[in-house]
Amino acid sequence: MSSKPTLHVLEGKDKLLVVSLENVTPAFANSIRRALISEVPTLAIDEVIFTENTSGFWDEYIAHRLGLIPFKMSEDLYDALRDCYQNHGNDCQVVFSLNEEALERPKTVFSGHLRFEGIEGIMFEKERNEVIVEPVSKYIPIVKLNKGQKIALTAIARMGVGKNHAKWQPVTAVGYKYKPIVKVLNPEVPEEKANKLINICPRRVFGYTQGRIVVINENACSLCRECVEKYPDIVRVEGDPSKIILTIETLGGLPPRKLLEVALEVLDERLSALHDKISDALNAFLAPAPPEAPSGGGQSF
Ligand code: SF4
Repeated sequence: MSSKPTLHVLEGKDKLLVVSLENVTPAFANSIRRALISEVPTLAIDEVIFTENTSGFWDEYIAHRLGLIPFKMSEDLYDALRDCYQNHGNDCQVVFSLNEEALERPKTVFSGHLRFEGIEGIMFEKERNEVIVEPVSKYIPIVKLNKGQKIALTAIARMGVGKNHAKWQPVTAVGYKYKPIVKVLNPEVPEEKANKLINICPRRVFGYTQGRIVVINENACSLCRECVEKYPDIVRVEGDPSKIILTIETLGGLPPRKLLEVALEVLDERLSALHDKISDALNAFLAPAPPEAPSGGGQSF
C-alpha cells in the first residue's frame, strides 16, 4: 500500500466539501482544519467612517455588525488580493458606501444596501460599473431605522486571517473523524425493537427493510456510540484509523475547494520555511571549525 496521502471527494456543494483522506494521521487532518480556520486570508470590513448616524445604535455596534458580513468575489480577484496582502500587508482594500434613510416608515438596512465603490491598491480589470465584490447574502440585517433616521458611512474592507479576528474566518465549521464502520451483528429483530434502534441514532444511519435492520448511511455516523451502548448485541461501531473524513462548511465567499487549496499552500509554505531554518541551523552547527592560528613566535597582547 502506498504511504502517500490520498484524497477522495465524498460530497461537493457550493458551501460544503466532504473528503476522505487516507494514509494521514489525525494530527495531519487537524493541521488542515486549523489552517482553514485561522490561516486562510479572507476579506472583511475593517474600518468604518461614519458621516451620519441618527439611528438608535452606536457607531461601534454598527461597525461590528458590518465586520461580520461575508463577501464573495471571483477566484482571480481573491488571488490578487491575497497576493497583495501577503506582500504589502494592508495596502489593498475594497471600499463600500452606505447611505440610507427611513423617509416615510421604519426601514431595515440590509447588507444588500452596501454599495461597491471600488478597489484600491491593485489593478484589476473589470467592466465599467461592474460590481465585483458583494455580500454573500443581500439580506443580512445591519440596523433598523425609525422614521426620519439616517445612516451614511464609508466601509473599508481588508484582507486578514482568522487568528487575528473571527470576522476573517472563511469557514463556518471544519471537522474530521475516523471513517465510521457500522456493522449490524443481528439484523433480524422485531419491528418495534428495530424502530427504537433507528430512532436512537441522531444521524439516521439505520433503516428497516424486509424484516431486517440495514445500514443506509454509514458515513453520516458521528461515532457517538449511542446505539452500541443500548444495543450491543445488535450493532457494532468503530472508526477506521486508516481513513479520515474531513468536512468543510464555508460562509459562501469562496468555494470550499479553493479554501482547501489555500490551506494546503499555507501549510506547504510553513513547512518549507521550517525546513530551511532547520537546514541552516544544522549546517551552522556541523560546519568544520576554522583552523586555529599557529602558536609561538608571535607577540601576544
Ligand atoms: S454511533 Fe451514533 S451516529 Fe453512529 S450509528 Fe450509532 S447512534 Fe448513529
